[in-house]
Amino acid sequence: MTISANDITGVPAKTDGGALRPETLAVHPPRVEISGSTPLGVPLHQGHVFAFDSADALADPDTFLYSRMGNPTVRALEDAVARLEGGTGALSYASGMGAISGVLHTLLSSGGHVIAQRCLYGGTYALLTDLAGRWGVDVTYVSGTDPDEVRAALRPETRLLYLETIANPTTRVADLPALAAVAAGAGVPVAVDNTFASPLLCRPLDHGADVVLHSATKYLAGHADVLGGVAVFKDPALQRRVRAHAVEQGAVTDPFAAWLTLRGMQTLPLRVERQCASAATLAARLAAHPAVAAVRHPSLADHPDRAVAARLLPAGGGGVISADLAGGRDAGRAFVEAVRVASLSVSLGDVRTLVMHPASTSHRQLDAEALRTAGIGPGTLRLSVGIEHVEDLWADLTQALDKAAAHGA
Ligand code: PLP
Repeated sequence: MTISANDITGVPAKTDGGALRPETLAVHPPRVEISGSTPLGVPLHQGHVFAFDSADALADPDTFLYSRMGNPTVRALEDAVARLEGGTGALSYASGMGAISGVLHTLLSSGGHVIAQRCLYGGTYALLTDLAGRWGVDVTYVSGTDPDEVRAALRPETRLLYLETIANPTTRVADLPALAAVAAGAGVPVAVDNTFASPLLCRPLDHGADVVLHSATKYLAGHADVLGGVAVFKDPALQRRVRAHAVEQGAVTDPFAAWLTLRGMQTLPLRVERQCASAATLAARLAAHPAVAAVRHPSLADHPDRAVAARLLPAGGGGVISADLAGGRDAGRAFVEAVRVASLSVSLGDVRTLVMHPASTSHRQLDAEALRTAGIGPGTLRLSVGIEHVEDLWADLTQALDKAAAHGA
């Protein structure tokens, strides 16, 4: 029985991968050939080290040698995500933060400068703050909606423009083509965290990004049972630089985690389609509810980036809604404790609906001033809409809103 490193990069049997749509690619991850027959599900190669008959075979740079440097199941995941995102290759990590740190630590060093979107996932903000404090990396925060602001922030030592497709948790949509064009003009690479959109809604490499980042923990895996991260590259040379760092960093994916992620990804198109449709329905109903002061979802007519969302996210505005309750902090707390179908949980992108309060969870690293700047109020809620029946969700949200109204200011 022979499985070679080259076999697993193959496209689905009897097809040319390039012509297929994401809905088809997602259910046909790369296959592993075994002496002429092919397991339909990707096999789990849990072993961490490989044995050889000859020293020359061991020295082959393309072989699987030791799982920190590469593993067939992990490679199948990397190839599957790279194909969905339209990249030349990908690197898989133990978590989304592993992928983000891997790319930032490779591209940034003392004296370097990064331009980043102001409203970012809290862990990324904390990492940039750490890089600034301990390594002297200078960070300029921009709105992520204005190319002139990025142009004005550029310096000779700028090494990266860092954006999120749909920002966490404000749901602001970055104008990727306009911002990336400014960075490209100055030779600055662009990294985009595409966790909220998934490759089903947006492929940032098609809009000028150089690296796409995912917390695979969220939509890609989708079932609250695995942590993971992926970085997808346009340029193989940049991938090689980041890979060298990843091998040193050691924050690689366990093969079982890769296997679970691949299994989850096969239903990604179905999940995302339903999550987007339900989120749009719930966002519209929440906006009309008297206990709700404001709702943000890219599908809403009053969303500040509606025109950008129509261009970049034509298939849907994602499954995440953010809302401010009229009753403020007390109402927000009462709401998240009152939900019964939804769960109070910090994650997102799951098959189940999750609600949470960013000021006390994902963004708790931010002080009051930084919270305000990031567009997060004391009573802001984040709802990650799952795949339950939308009417069961609406019934749950309305009973929780009634309880929140009784506690509000
Ligand atoms: N990026 C975004 C947008 C996130 O929401 C998260 C986690 O919530 C991360 C990255 C970090 O991912 P992980 O928890 O897998 O490290």
